[in-house]
Amino acid sequence: MSEKNVFEDAIARMERIGEEAGIVPEVISALRQPKRTLTASLPVRMDDGSMRYFTGLRCQYNSALGPTKGGIRFHPNVSTEEVQALALWMTIKCAVTNLPYGGGKGGVIVDPKQLSKLELERLSRAYVRAMARFIGPDIDVPAPDVYTNARIMGWMLDEYEAIQHKHAPGVITGKPIRLGGSLGRDEATGRGAFLCIQELAKRKKINPKKTRVAIQGFGNAGYHVATLLQKSGYKIVAVSDSKGGIYAEDGFDVESIYQHKQDTRNLRGVYCEGSVCQLVDHKAISNEDLLELDVDILIPAALESVIGPWNVERIKAPIIIEVANGPISGDVDALLHERDIMVVPDVLANAGGVTVSYFEWVQNRSGYRWTLDEVRQRLADIMERAFAEIWDLAQAEGRSLRSGAYTIAMRRIQEAIQAQGSREYFQGDTH
Ligand code: NAD
Repeated sequence: MSEKNVFEDAIARMERIGEEAGIVPEVISALRQPKRTLTASLPVRMDDGSMRYFTGLRCQYNSALGPTKGGIRFHPNVSTEEVQALALWMTIKCAVTNLPYGGGKGGVIVDPKQLSKLELERLSRAYVRAMARFIGPDIDVPAPDVYTNARIMGWMLDEYEAIQHKHAPGVITGKPIRLGGSLGRDEATGRGAFLCIQELAKRKKINPKKTRVAIQGFGNAGYHVATLLQKSGYKIVAVSDSKGGIYAEDGFDVESIYQHKQDTRNLRGVYCEGSVCQLVDHKAISNEDLLELDVDILIPAALESVIGPWNVERIKAPIIIEVANGPISGDVDALLHERDIMVVPDVLANAGGVTVSYFEWVQNRSGYRWTLDEVRQRLADIMERAFAEIWDLAQAEGRSLRSGAYTIAMRRIQEAIQAQGSREYFQGDTH
C-alpha cells in the first residue's frame, strides 16, 4: 500500500496539479482542508434488544460553488480520512461537470451485511437524526454510495421530514421514484462512464467488437456500465465482486450474471449452475488478478486504492476508466502517463451519478418531473461537454486527462473564491 493515507494522497495530487496549472496559493490552501467534518455516535437498538453505537461521519469539504453534495457509504473500512478524500473528490467532480454544488461525503463504519433489515433501517434513521441540523437542500445534500441504495435514501428522507415537520425531498437524492426520485438515477453512474467511453472511442477510433473489458465491482456502477457496453458490442471478459471474480475469453452475458447475483448473491456460481454452465468456459480469478489481465479496457468499479506502486508495473490494459472513486493512488499518476496508459479519471468517469442527482434536486425544487429520455439527453449533454473540455485541454498542453479535469475544476473554484475578493483586489491592483 501507499505510505500516505488516502486523504494525504488526495491532497498531494490536488496540490501538484494545482501548482502546475497556476492556481493561486490561497485557493490551494482553501482546498487543503475540509470546511467541517462531523463525527457522531449513532445509537441503534439491535433485534436482540441490545444497544450498539456506530460511528457516523459527514464531511462538507468546500462550498464555494454551492451546497455540498456527496454520497453516504456503509462499510467497515469507512474512516475520517476516507470520507475527507471522497469529499475532496466530490468538490472537484461537481466543478468538472459545472454543477452548482460543492463537495461532501458521509459514511458509517459498519458491515451492513451483518445487520437485519430492521437494524439497517434504524441505523439509517439514527444517521439522519445525528446529521439533521447539518444537512438540508441548501446546505448539504447526501445520496447513495457503496452499500447504500434508494431504499436507504427513502428511510433517511422520511426521518428528515419527520424532524422538520414538512416535505423536503431536495434534502437527499437517489430516492425511490415515488418519494421524488428521478428516473434514470439508478443507471446514471454507469451511463455517465459509458458516455465517456463512447467519447473516447470516437477520438481513439476504438472498435467495440474488438475491445475486451474487465470490470472490478459488480454493484450499481459496475453492472450498469457493463450492460451498456455489452449492448454496444464490447466484450465483457471479466467481472468481480467482494468475493472474487470470473473470467471468460469469449465474454459473458452481463444480464445472466446480474440475474444470478440477484437470486443468490453469488457471482461465481453463475456459469456453473443450470444450462449456461455448459455454454461458457470460465475460470475463477481473484480481484488482484482481474486488475492485471491483458485486456483493452480496465474498469475498477469497487473501492479506492486498488492500483498503486505495489502492482502498477503489472497493469497491462492501455485504458483505465475510473468508475470507482480513487482506485489509483496519486503516486503512480506520472508512471501511468509515461507508460501511455490513458486514465479517464473518477472525477469525470463517474460524474454521471451526481449529475442525475442534480437533476433530481432540480425536479424536487421545481415540483416538476422529467421523462427518462429528457434525463438521458441532459446527462449526455453534460458528460459530452465535460469530456470535450478536458480532452481538448489535455491534448493542447500534453497533460493527462486527470490533470486536465482538475485544472478546469480548480479554475472554476478559484473564480468563485476570487469573486468574493482576492489578494490583488484588496491590494488595489484590480477593480
Ligand atoms: P455498490 O454497493 O452498489 O457495489 C459495490 C460493489 O463492489 C459490489 O459488487 C461489491 O461486491 C464490490 N466490492 C466490494 N468490496 C470489493 C473488493 N474488495 N473487491 C472487489 N469488489 C468489491 O456500490 P456502487 O454504488 O456501485 O459504488 C462502486 C464505486 O463507484 C464506489 O467507489 C463509489 O464511490 C463509486 N461511485 C458510485 C456512484 C453511485 O451513484 N452509486 C457514483 C459515483 C461513484
